[in-house]
Amino acid sequence: MDEFTQPSEIARETLRRLALSKKLPTPDNYRTLYLEISGAQEADPFPARELKLLHAALPRTTQEHIRFARQFEIAIANGSWAAVRAALTDFLSKSDAETMDWPGLVGHLLQQLDTYHTGITLAQKKESLDQVLASSSTPERLFSRLQSILRSWSKNSPGNSKELVASTPPPEPVTAPPEPAANAKNLPANPAWHGSAEGLQELIAYLLDNTLALVLRDNPELARETGEISVSVRAAKSAEELTGLIERLKKLCYRAQFIAEDQAELNTALLHLLQLIMENISELVVDDQWLAGQIKTVRDLASPPLDLRRLDDVERRMKDVIVKQSSLKKNLNEAKDRLKLMLATFVDRLADFSETTSEYHSKIENYSEKISQAGDISELTDVLDEVMRETRVVQLNAARSRDELSAMRSRVNEAEQEVSRLQNELSTTSELMRHDPLTGALNRKGMDEALEKEVGRLQRHGGTLSLALLDIDNFKKINDARGHSAGDAALVHLVKVFQETIRPQDTVSRYGGEEFVVLLPNTPIDDAITAMTRVQRELTRKFFMHKNDKILITFSCGVAETKDGEDPHEALKRADVAMYRAKRAGKNRVVPA
Ligand code: GH3
Ligand code: MG
Ligand code: MG
Repeated sequence: MDEFTQPSEIARETLRRLALSKKLPTPDNYRTLYLEISGAQEADPFPARELKLLHAALPRTTQEHIRFARQFEIAIANGSWAAVRAALTDFLSKSDAETMDWPGLVGHLLQQLDTYHTGITLAQKKESLDQVLASSSTPERLFSRLQSILRSWSKNSPGNSKELVASTPPPEPVTAPPEPAANAKNLPANPAWHGSAEGLQELIAYLLDNTLALVLRDNPELARETGEISVSVRAAKSAEELTGLIERLKKLCYRAQFIAEDQAELNTALLHLLQLIMENISELVVDDQWLAGQIKTVRDLASPPLDLRRLDDVERRMKDVIVKQSSLKKNLNEAKDRLKLMLATFVDRLADFSETTSEYHSKIENYSEKISQAGDISELTDVLDEVMRETRVVQLNAARSRDELSAMRSRVNEAEQEVSRLQNELSTTSELMRHDPLTGALNRKGMDEALEKEVGRLQRHGGTLSLALLDIDNFKKINDARGHSAGDAALVHLVKVFQETIRPQDTVSRYGGEEFVVLLPNTPIDDAITAMTRVQRELTRKFFMHKNDKILITFSCGVAETKDGEDPHEALKRADVAMYRAKRAGKNRVVPA
């Protein structure tokens, strides 16, 4: 048997035998023959598909589960058995660390039931325990509510503030703390809110009507009770009348607290669900490359706390991307269909070809039989004529097939290139629409839209908007001394520090090469200057690292606050002038317009 050592020889021999055999030239048949000829063993392939199915079926009820599922997914994506093993051992060694300490909790409860707490009777304690037992649907919820009961009692115990059940962390606050400056501004100025008992009554009633009523909007009974208490608080004429309401108010607060806890849990559960969908969505589509952009955006969004402004922004970006992608996807599907059709024809031709040649071989066998049995020369001549004719036919067929196949192959190549071009375009669309691909900051188009939105907000709700325009100092030096790619990395670093330092509602946009614009809604100019100075200070702590060298990036910045009715682009021009003043004054400073 011939020895084939070069892959190209093995491949050619494989094709030859495939053509000679009656088998269809499918990838499987090709592989089997190839391995047979090369004498190689087939390596066990990484069972990515099966592991992905397993990954999809993993439970995701706790943070630990979700973390494990991520680690598992990354291991599969890398095709690494070692990483799969590490994920499993990691998970198993952690899994009993975060259990709920029920004996500790119950012991503590028993002890606290008998302890005296100012203003709480034993009957009240039992009533709140009853309520919690009746309304907690899961052990986790029951555990956390019992903990919060203990906490509320301990607040009333004389001089006792020790930690309750040390092995479990305290629950997270139910609602995020409000932003004092912005919220205070949005409240209507109410002359009844002055520093007197009536002022306090009015404030409590306002709180009940406008805050608690919102939390309780899905619970008509409690919403009604809230309304009634609010009316009574406003109507109370004496300290006794007010004191009479305290019990009702306490009970309401208790029940509202549970509802708020439920809502917070619901919020967290929805976010988990969203993360889960995002993790599994790639299992549902054949080709998930093009989804990567959106998945990343939604994943970033799905990390608590939720922010309406971010949600709104993501929604607009998604809509835009979906329109562009659906048209690209259509083209891509058409191109793929064309490619499939061509490949099918290709395989048919190859099959025809192998049939023709095998037919030829059996005819030749037939003729050699006839030749050996031929009685005289004339019989032999006839047979030879036939052989010659058949051979010519096969030669012609082979030549035609070869030409057709090579034409087909170049058409397939073209189609493949078209498919991969469309696929690339598809996967970059979602990233590029409104973002600068290098730094991830908004691009000019993204900034214009954000600006337009802020102007709309100003017109509807009033308030302030400040704009900062900044230019990196001596950036050319970094490029010249360290190379353009180091300059690029410095830009990425700067944007990262900005994003870590400014508030979530502020946006950074790349305005030009090394110039950036920051929009700071609801921020008077003095606060905007403070914010930019904070970023400058932050840059002296978080150095840009290049090949183990610490490089200090500084910038000069102009800040402008939009005036009533002023086009924000005008304010931007003023910020630009101020930025140049900062440059002239010695750089690395913030100058108001
Ligand atoms: P100044 O303090 O006066 O602003 O000095 P400068 O060197 O920062 O300013 P100049 O305008 O002279 O140079 C800016 C340089 O930024 C020139 C340009 O090549 C570089 N640059 C612009 N965009 C990019 C980019 O995307 N990547 C990199 N690496 N460099 C860029
Ligand atoms: Mg510049
Ligand atoms: Mg510069």
